Formats: sequence, structure tokens, C-alpha cells
Amino acid sequence: MSKQIDYKLLPALVARKEAEWKRFLIKNKKKLEGLDLHVHSLHYEVTERIDCLTCANCCRSLGPRITDKDVERMAKTLRMKATDLISKYLHIDEDGDMVFQSMPCPFLGADNYCAIYESRPKACREYPHTDRKRFYQIFNLSVKNAYTCPIVYEVLDNLTK
Ligand code: SF4
Ligand code: SF4
Repeated sequence: MSKQIDYKLLPALVARKEAEWKRFLIKNKKKLEGLDLHVHSLHYEVTERIDCLTCANCCRSLGPRITDKDVERMAKTLRMKATDLISKYLHIDEDGDMVFQSMPCPFLGADNYCAIYESRPKACREYPHTDRKRFYQIFNLSVKNAYTCPIVYEVLDNLTK
């Protein structure tokens, strides 16, 4: 089993690769449009190997966008009124999105488990998006996400080799 990259090393690692990855996108945009299957197989290979419970960097540092449906689901699990959940945990950010009032996420435990895992926001479920259809459309967003997430770093690093 290969070693898991420490998320603390990512800013330096990605800064060294970012320009090369962006050049790769410019050169291979057309080719990438047909490469979802390859990207997804890299995603499954990497996620199998990386243990999110030893990382939790996304839950510590990124604020997921929260929808009304997410609020309903979380409130039900926490047996709270939606309005109480909103006033206790959420606020509207400068882009007009509903997000947690502060990060690390209030539902992240000291053991890196999510206290509302089954009811977590859709954005948390979908992160880090490396299994998304038409991955080429989020290639640049993924370069940004690689600063936070070891899975994204490894997928991009393998894809661009
Ligand atoms: S999704 Fe990425 S950033 Fe989040 S815990 Fe897993 S490896 Fe870490
Ligand atoms: S709700 Fe759970 S999965 Fe989402 S950021 Fe918080 S701890 Fe992480």
C-alpha cells in the first residue's frame, strides 16, 4: 500500500505542479472530454487507499454550501427546528450562500468522524468531485481543491503524468 500524503504538505506540492497541470488542461482539453472513465478509475483507486479519517482537512477548512433540503435533513436528525438549526450553526456568506458559521465544522468530532454523517449536506457527500461526469469542466476547480485534499492531488498527479 502506498503512503498517504499528509495534507499539510499539499500547499507546497501543488504550488510546484499548478502551472504544469494547467498547461496539461490547455493541451489536452479535447482528449479529457472523453476521459471520464479513466479519471473515475483513478478516483476509485485513490479513495480506496486514502483514509479520510486520518485527514478531515475538508471538514476543517472548507465551508460546504448548504441547501434548504440539507437544513431539513440535518434538523430532522438533530431533532431541532430548522429555524433553530439555522440560527445556531449557519449564516449567509458574502456570496449569498448558506454555510456553517465557522470552520472547523461544528459536527466534526475530535476523532474526525462526522456526527451527522448520514444526514450531511449534499456538498459534503459529493466532495472531492473527482468522480463527477465531465470532469474536464471542473479541472481548474480541482487544481484549487488539490491544495486541500490528498485525493484530488493524487488523481491530478496521476492523470497528468
Ligand atoms: S475528502 Fe480529501 S480533504 Fe476530505 S478528508 Fe478525504 S482526503 Fe481529506
Ligand atoms: S457536516 Fe460532516 S462531512 Fe460535512 S463538513 Fe461537517 S463534519 Fe464534514
